[in-house]
Amino acid sequence: MATTLDIARDNPNAQTVIASAPGMGEEKPTLIGLSREELGEALGSIGVPQKQWRMRASQLWHWLYVRGLSDFSQMTNIGKDLRQKLDDAFSISRPEIVSEQISVDGTRKWLFRFPPRGAGHPVEVETVYIPEEGRGTLCVSSQVGCTLTCTFCHTGTQKLVRNLTSEEILSQILIARDRLGDFPDADTPQGAIVPSEGRLVTNIVMMGMGEPLYNFENVKKALLIASDGDGLSLSKRRITLSTSGVVPEIYRTGDEIGCMLAISLHAVRDDDRDILVPINKKWNIEALLEACRNYPGLSNAKRITFEYVMLKDINDSNEDALELVRLLKGIPAKINLIPFNPWPGSQYACSDWERIEEFADIVNRAGYASPIRTPRGRDIFAACGQLKSASERMRKKDRDALTAGKTAVY
Ligand code: SAH
Ligand code: SF4
Repeated sequence: MATTLDIARDNPNAQTVIASAPGMGEEKPTLIGLSREELGEALGSIGVPQKQWRMRASQLWHWLYVRGLSDFSQMTNIGKDLRQKLDDAFSISRPEIVSEQISVDGTRKWLFRFPPRGAGHPVEVETVYIPEEGRGTLCVSSQVGCTLTCTFCHTGTQKLVRNLTSEEILSQILIARDRLGDFPDADTPQGAIVPSEGRLVTNIVMMGMGEPLYNFENVKKALLIASDGDGLSLSKRRITLSTSGVVPEIYRTGDEIGCMLAISLHAVRDDDRDILVPINKKWNIEALLEACRNYPGLSNAKRITFEYVMLKDINDSNEDALELVRLLKGIPAKINLIPFNPWPGSQYACSDWERIEEFADIVNRAGYASPIRTPRGRDIFAACGQLKSASERMRKKDRDALTAGKTAVY
């Protein structure tokens, strides 16, 4: 079955590739996203003796995360009988790709559909790949929708449908690597050291749909698997988690995940931030910056990124820039200025280019690197803050059509 959701807007040349998809209704439990211990227990449940758990879990780990297999039959160092048993009991298949769009600038956006969890219905999630000189960044979603309602963010207009599981978070990385041809091919000898140079997905940013720190456990599990040196092996220095400011979980992120941190600051005074990023009413700027000051391991080489969306006449004055510099004093920081990306119905405009440059100059003069984030993939609606899936809007009729395996076109 293949369905399409083609939301290419401004660019009629944006390519939409429709990939074939596995069938719906896959109900076997997955092995993707389990810790090694959980993998061992899963093996136990199909009769593998406990003394083999560690060894078998390592074999699976290698096939799943180094080789990116989505089919047990190719796991050549596991006997045929056990492969069959694994296949009968578990799934390692990828989620359905509803659509893949490729922007004129090379940015890709996928819409994935994940099966229902419990009594729910299938959900759709967007993931974006941004190729750059010498690196490629995958922007991963943590939730379908968001409980927060930042007024400039399209995802914020979509109610939270549900948290993604660790499997669903990891699957976004696995499937992007599949589609980009970023896993070693089947001819690579088993046990060969697979070089990390030349990889297409070099960086992960948790900046897709949702607030990752309101789905802490699943995000943590997925990121620890993504950074495991015997698996996907992405350095924690190349994994950045962006939060609107869930202060207690910032402390836990430092202690329990240890990845890089980005903060959606966007305003320098509480009354403004209360409106733009309403979680500020719960944890204000002072509490947020205190958590940042205490983030483990900060240095000039390991800085916190402060994201600041440039909204015309709202937060873009010279006074705002000076206040930003004052607030961040003493915190090893990078400031990422993001030109506002509009979406249908948004109430803001992007600051003029000269304004953004003047703002950046003030910040630069104070000694901060302040790159202006180039909007990528605007023609396929893939830029920061533009992601919003149709899940919330799915009506019963469409859900029934999906469950029955029919094509639904939005
Ligand atoms: N929920 C997390 C991560 C997802 S948003 C967070 O808020 O940090 C990723 C980044 O895009 C955030 O900095 C967010 O504030 C920013 N963003 C949201 N909407 C935007 C828009 N319309 N234009 C530009 N940036 C936007
Ligand atoms: Fe949620 Fe982040 Fe968007 Fe705010 S900016 S609504 S926290 S996704």
